[in-house]
Amino acid sequence: MADSTDRFSAAQWKRRSWVDAANNPANGFPLQSLPYCVFSGDDGRPSIGVGIGQAILDLHACSRAGLLDGLSDPIQKACQAETLNSLMACAVADQAALRSRIMDLLDASADEATRSSVSQALTPSDTAKLLKPVGSANYTDFYASIHHATNVGRLFRPDQPLLPNYKFVPIGYHGRASSLIVSGTPVRRPRGQTKPAAGSAPSFAPTRFLDYEVEVALYIAHGNPLGQPVPIGHAANHIFGLSLLNDWSARDMQSWEYQPLGPFLAKSFATSVSPWVVPMATFEPFRVPAALRPSGDPAPLDYLRNAEDQASGAIDLTLEAFLVTPKMRAAGLSPQRLSRANLRHLYWTPAQLIAHHTSNGCNLLPGDLLATGTVSGSEPDEAGCLLELTAGKTMSIQLANGETRTALEDGDEVILRGSCFRPGFPVISLGECRGLILAAN
Ligand code: MN
Repeated sequence: MADSTDRFSAAQWKRRSWVDAANNPANGFPLQSLPYCVFSGDDGRPSIGVGIGQAILDLHACSRAGLLDGLSDPIQKACQAETLNSLMACAVADQAALRSRIMDLLDASADEATRSSVSQALTPSDTAKLLKPVGSANYTDFYASIHHATNVGRLFRPDQPLLPNYKFVPIGYHGRASSLIVSGTPVRRPRGQTKPAAGSAPSFAPTRFLDYEVEVALYIAHGNPLGQPVPIGHAANHIFGLSLLNDWSARDMQSWEYQPLGPFLAKSFATSVSPWVVPMATFEPFRVPAALRPSGDPAPLDYLRNAEDQASGAIDLTLEAFLVTPKMRAAGLSPQRLSRANLRHLYWTPAQLIAHHTSNGCNLLPGDLLATGTVSGSEPDEAGCLLELTAGKTMSIQLANGETRTALEDGDEVILRGSCFRPGFPVISLGECRGLILAAN
């Protein structure tokens, strides 16, 4: 888990901010969360910020105003950068000191002079242009939801939905980092090779089964040297924070290309990430035991097994997917929820994903992105993609305005949201991850 230097005491969870909107649970950006972002500052230059209430605290402006004086040089330099990468590479103690300083600056007990100075570095988040926060050299997508793996597997192999390796190996594939895009960036319907039915010849055309996948992104803080695996007991310390991720997928291209080497062009055209990176310290009160393995399932092999990870390595995080169609938009209708699931039901914990990824000596770099894979639950309305919700395009989804969908259409917008709820603690929001589908070129 996080180092003790980055842990909050119970009293810290009771603190309130002089920024009123931070104390409103509906906003989900309390004093204790302080998610990082990169936004376009007054001068048009990317600037690192921290979300509080309905505003962004500009850390570059704080640094210029002397509000970060006394913090280490590397952390002050990192606050003046144009991505979060150097902040992610800073020492954990330095990151914790920055977080503690920001919390003090925004705390209800801050004096008038501090408030006045900090106020000048606050900007409303709804009008700010939020940018891609991290430059990730590598992106790996896992398959950690056994419910997703089973539902998808059943479509192809009704008798044996799960392959024999699933309960031993955290399955993943290497995704494409260059096409990671920030929420709000439109997604162009890709063209690709598909083969509609057995016996027919493949053709090259815009995908006719465009889908989304509800996922959570884990950003790596500290990497590991090539050849030195990260032991499971240390793995959680390597995570900087979490974001929402939508792994856009062209199912018709995927089903034709995936054998024998796995997903390729069906996924590499775009992957959306939310602009806020919520630090791991924020999730401390929302840590829960790893999902119970059904009796008869094998125990994880030793390199994937750790008592503390089993006791508190999962995160209670609610994830929702919404759809807005062009007709709904024209009629001013609210987004319609398609599913609601929880990250805590993953078969593998984040620490297990990192321990497995590095177990062969593969090196992770600061800023690398690991995604969980589609997060689905055991119930039909907990399915995190259309492939599952439509049982492989055999059933259509009925929308409240009378429309139906079996796949995403041009002009559709998918919105992912994530939040943590626990009585006695502030609500934590991960914000939104949005993407609007554009017609193929
Ligand atoms: Mn995926």
